[in-house]
Amino acid sequence: MSRSAHPAGPRYADVLPEGHYPAPPADLNALHPRVWSRTVSRNEDGVATVGGLDVKRLAEEFGTPAYFLDEDDFRARCRAWREAFGPDADVFYAGKAFLSRAVVRWLTEEGLNLDVCSAGELATALDAGMPAERIALHGNNKSAEEISRAVEAGVGRIVVDSFQEIVRVAHTAQRAGKRQRVQIRVTVGVEAHTHEFIATAHEDQKFGLPLAGGQAAEAVRRALKLDGLELIGIHSHIGSQIFDTSGFEVAAHRVVGLLREIRDEHGVELPEIDLGGGLGIAYTPDDDPREPQEIATALRAIVERECAAAGLAVPRLSVEPGRAIVGPTAFTLYEVGTVKELPGLRTYVSVDGGMSDNIRTALYDADYSVALVSRTSTADPMLSRVVGKHCESGDIVVRDAFLPADVAPGDLLAVPATGAYCRSMASNYNHALRPPVVVVKDGTARVIVRRETEEDLLRLDVG
Ligand SMILES: *Cc1c(COP(=O)(O)O)cnc(C)c1O
Repeated sequence: MSRSAHPAGPRYADVLPEGHYPAPPADLNALHPRVWSRTVSRNEDGVATVGGLDVKRLAEEFGTPAYFLDEDDFRARCRAWREAFGPDADVFYAGKAFLSRAVVRWLTEEGLNLDVCSAGELATALDAGMPAERIALHGNNKSAEEISRAVEAGVGRIVVDSFQEIVRVAHTAQRAGKRQRVQIRVTVGVEAHTHEFIATAHEDQKFGLPLAGGQAAEAVRRALKLDGLELIGIHSHIGSQIFDTSGFEVAAHRVVGLLREIRDEHGVELPEIDLGGGLGIAYTPDDDPREPQEIATALRAIVERECAAAGLAVPRLSVEPGRAIVGPTAFTLYEVGTVKELPGLRTYVSVDGGMSDNIRTALYDADYSVALVSRTSTADPMLSRVVGKHCESGDIVVRDAFLPADVAPGDLLAVPATGAYCRSMASNYNHALRPPVVVVKDGTARVIVRRETEEDLLRLDVG
């Protein structure tokens, strides 16, 4: 067993050598504002509250596990992004992070646009009233059906991802008597500073057409010739959970380089560039993400500088944050079922959910933090591993967590920053019933996605 050579660092090794555990936090009862949504605090009884509602009452009313989403926090983050980028840019929320009709309505009201990457996401967006011209369709293998629904609906842009798709979108639009606005997704060869599995801009990947070797330029050539397409710009998305803008700097430099080549070869200046999403959030208090204003200022400066150097007018900029908007707005509430102490090894604290409601720890070695929220405790910190109830030893919710040593069955634990890629990646593994999403605002709670039932499971099982 490797004790230190795990590629993601020693915190991820199977068993940490004695003396190499992370230090316990100064105050186990603290709910660090960096990882908890804006309205979370503890009441005078030590019970955590969100939107003015205490988690014990929420657990009684809605059950566990459940996701609790702070609407004020979500809207505040939308506004922060919108205001930071201003009227000359567009902020597309990446729907894959978490999408529901309520979310679509908030986005519509707050002036954001929306990225979808499947017919299901498109249907949700349209059903909840997002104007089609504010929707972008993504994906590396959009079906004919997805393309034609998007074209029929009149989406503002389709981000095309292959030579075949350029032709498919053009034909679909022509048949519909339309001219579809498209961007071409390119890979710029930038590897974002993050875990390898979620970096998406190596050249060796399924998304986009590489700038290097000329495929991106060839895609532009083909797109400009087709009557069904209006090529409006170039798209680049360099990765996920990124904490600094240096990767975007290189990406913008290369994308603007392509815009200059396009002008020189075809005499057209494309009016838009999209630098994608991937901006990081705090999963643990050690993470220190940038504020939207700082990101906007940096990205704008980069694009302006590159365009000035290339002698191009500054194109309209768009960005696509998903995680950075919804991630911090929700936590998952679990109940402890068992506490198993393995002498000399570690203590396993089992909760009533797991990899079916949060696959990210198993999939990416993602770090989360966790707190005892149904009470405070003065017990000593105990290094624990919070695990789920699934039939899989990799079913880990939080790998190395300090919990009070008196944690016991019936206690409620909450894992913050689970708004992104948890409910949206949830599964029915072991026939788990996917948890509800409950929105909390000003002392009221309402279900926006209800808990699955056994009837839901059996309805799909047609014998
Ligand atoms: C996933 C994705 C995003 C959003 O990524 P986050 O890490 O949630 O910000 C944005 N754009 C594209 C093209 C994506 O695939």
